[in-house]
Amino acid sequence: MTFLPSCRETRERLTDYSEGALSVRERALLRMHLLICSACTAFFRGLLAVPRVARFLLPAEAPPSREGTEALSAVLRRISRQREKGVG
Ligand SMILES: [Zn+2]
Repeated sequence: MTFLPSCRETRERLTDYSEGALSVRERALLRMHLLICSACTAFFRGLLAVPRVARFLLPAEAPPSREGTEALSAVLRRISRQREKGVG
């Protein structure tokens, strides 16, 4: 039986998960947790909706340079693709 991360661990890693920053094993464990935990699934969906707004409101994280804008667009496209695929 694989040991799944706790809700707290899952939520701490969801940002990395949404950005594709986790290893294959970590992603698999998070996905399994999301499949069995509706609370974390709802949390994750809320998290995905936030960066679009938050990153534009926080210039330090998204400097208004052409490079920064392009990098941000790439991240948002990646998130959009993941949303289309769905959580599970
Ligand atoms: Zn959970």
